[in-house]
Amino acid sequence: MLNQRMVGLGTQRSVIRELFEFGKIRAAEVGAENIFDFSIGNPSVPAPDCVNETALRLIKEMDPVVLHGYTSAQGDAGVRALISDSLNKRFDMNLRPENLYITVGAAAALCCCLNGICTPGAGDEVVVFAPYFPEYKVFIEGAGAKMTLIPADIEAFQIDFEAFEAALNEHTMAVIVNSPNNPCGAVYSEETVKKLAAVLEAASAKFGHPIYLISDEPYREIVFGGATIPFLPKYYKNTLVCYSWSKSLSLPGERLGYVLVPDSVEDQPLVYAAVAGAGRSLGYVNAPSLFQRVCAECAGETADISIYETNKNILTKGLRELGYHVVEPQGTFYIFPRTLIPDDIAFCEKAKDFNLLIVPGTGFGCPGHTRISFCVPTERVERALEAFKKLAEFYKN
Ligand code: PLP
Repeated sequence: MLNQRMVGLGTQRSVIRELFEFGKIRAAEVGAENIFDFSIGNPSVPAPDCVNETALRLIKEMDPVVLHGYTSAQGDAGVRALISDSLNKRFDMNLRPENLYITVGAAAALCCCLNGICTPGAGDEVVVFAPYFPEYKVFIEGAGAKMTLIPADIEAFQIDFEAFEAALNEHTMAVIVNSPNNPCGAVYSEETVKKLAAVLEAASAKFGHPIYLISDEPYREIVFGGATIPFLPKYYKNTLVCYSWSKSLSLPGERLGYVLVPDSVEDQPLVYAAVAGAGRSLGYVNAPSLFQRVCAECAGETADISIYETNKNILTKGLRELGYHVVEPQGTFYIFPRTLIPDDIAFCEKAKDFNLLIVPGTGFGCPGHTRISFCVPTERVERALEAFKKLAEFYKN
């Protein structure tokens, strides 16, 4: 008898995958240039030059047995030293290589944290704010815990503190935050972060155990209008940071990220050991050796992400002029307008008639909205406005 949960996860195609497949069929009929595929969050700008230059140099100069060999499970020591130095400079921290555990992207970083923190069968809960990255539910349930969802504040996509505080209880082990947010592009201000930290301090004291704040930040550098992202370990001591170079360096296929377990975390060596133990139990062994070194040398750099702000401006203005309700994103490469009818699934289905591939908000825990991934060439965004216009006209008539 197979594990039916796994069979389910392996056979149900995600809505995004369905759209992707549909896009390929439709492209054969009407031409790829006429398909407005806003379904997937795959960066559209190339990795910066330092990535290829460093990779080529390492391949030429390093002992291949070392370069392509296993590294320490927690990541090469030199790699972790370069990354901690870079973080210390950027965020005025005092981090050591021992605070970093290098992972196969942010997805693995999240799984290592969740599996390290939660105990299957213990009734553990992890709080998530809608709208949220749908894989959180898969990862949380994979760690044997239950996801507690805080409904979205659809006016601003900020934290509804009343609902949040009401959801915390003795079973709450962790809270996941994602700023800048996939799918809505919201960013939490310093004031919000301070309030969040105060609530978590009080709840940890009340329930007699630390409630970990898991900060999922693969979009940290993709911010607009000079927005700043507070570095959460400075505000809440029991913060675990999950980072990835998938989006900042446009390297999603290379699978590189890390968990940061700062010294401020209570019983840091134990928590770090739990994260590492989870990585071991999940069979990650170590993150890819070549790209550990590439990312460490390019840490702090980004691809040319300016196109995302250009696209965001065009879409925010264009969609509003067409009558769509939009909360302007402050980061990422996603925008999350309200759908023109309450049924977002029907709305996104209708959008296909106009060759617009957009994702229903329901999967992100926020019905009545749709996610548009604008990590595509700007001319595609500009031309898509005509299709969004036709879609709006369809509902007006
Ligand atoms: N977290 C969020 C919010 C994401 O949007 C993604 C990917 O899209 C991930 C985590 C996973 O990123 P990675 O490619 O680093 O595993």
